[in-house]
Amino acid sequence: MARKVLVLGEVREQTLRNVSFEALAAAKTVAEGGEVVAALVGKNISSLADEMLQYGADRVVKIENEKLKAYTPDGYSQALLAVIESEKPGGIVFGHTALGKDLSPKLAAKLNTGLISDATNVEIAGGNIVFTRPIYSGKAFEKKIVTGDIIFATIRPNNIASLEKDESHTGEISSLSVDIKDLRTIVKEVIRKATEGVDLSEAKVIVAGGRGVKSSNGFEPLKELANVLGGAIGASRGACDADYCDYSLQIGQTGKVVTPDLYIACGISGAIQHLAGMSNSKVIVAINKDPEANIFKIADYGIVGDLFEVVPLLTQEFKKL
Ligand code: FAD
Repeated sequence: MARKVLVLGEVREQTLRNVSFEALAAAKTVAEGGEVVAALVGKNISSLADEMLQYGADRVVKIENEKLKAYTPDGYSQALLAVIESEKPGGIVFGHTALGKDLSPKLAAKLNTGLISDATNVEIAGGNIVFTRPIYSGKAFEKKIVTGDIIFATIRPNNIASLEKDESHTGEISSLSVDIKDLRTIVKEVIRKATEGVDLSEAKVIVAGGRGVKSSNGFEPLKELANVLGGAIGASRGACDADYCDYSLQIGQTGKVVTPDLYIACGISGAIQHLAGMSNSKVIVAINKDPEANIFKIADYGIVGDLFEVVPLLTQEFKKL
């Protein structure tokens, strides 16, 4: 049954996050041939509308307002509820990002509908829209369908491939004026922590270091490898606790959940809490000097050796490609 599906284009520093395009691809499946409408919320976002169309949106609705220039749950939910009221979608897809995780349950409660969060796949099976989502920290998967009127889901970044960008694809771009009122919080300024290189949660390649790197300097060879591969640096909690790197790099149960195409674990033992954050990576390479290390149990490729010898050798070889 064809239905209209609304997708939130998530904007960070005047750029659309990749998960917005992945959400559009998921929305195409949910729409079953119906219209996919992208919502853009913020300030000075007009220039991003074309990109949402090029990645598969049929139409874009912008809600621009000075009070929406930074994310607040109050402001964004007022904006999104106004779009939902005017568009009456049968489906809603957001990215399972910090923003999506915060906003979607609030909206689902207001709409009195269910929510399937953190989906890693969506397909049509047996006449239903079926979502797959990991449970028990990625040790099992469950398949879910929605029985209510609105199919509302958030999708995990890096799992559903976005559609090929089509620069010739155009569509209607309209504006919706929303009176944002009674904000309980106002963001005065956003001061971002300076981060180097690629965003960890959207990286296709991650080179992660554990306590085996032995010091903050020990991350240097990992950074060189990540640079050559166009990847990001990640870490185990062991490395963060030892003050070798910042906690923003922590991957795992109490850190970030990542699913890159390639995850290179260097000097990480593979504790269950670490695996919870990276075991769904597409290809896992483990470098560890202990052949019994748990990480080898889930690795696609294992290298038993000293990371300070192995990592520079890999960097040298990748440089030749
Ligand atoms: P270690 O276990 O000490 O492993 C270091 C590894 O480096 C060893 O396998 C060793 O053989 C190898 N090594 C040493 N030198 C070299 C070398 N020169 N070359 C190659 N290999 C070398 N952990 C997380 O990562 N993320 C989480 O989100 C997380 N959440 C947690 C939540 C809770 C409630 C608890 C209790 C724990 C959590 N932990 C988490 C901690 C987790 O249990 C482990 O303690 C941690 O992952 C260990 O980090 P590590 O693998 O870097 O260190």
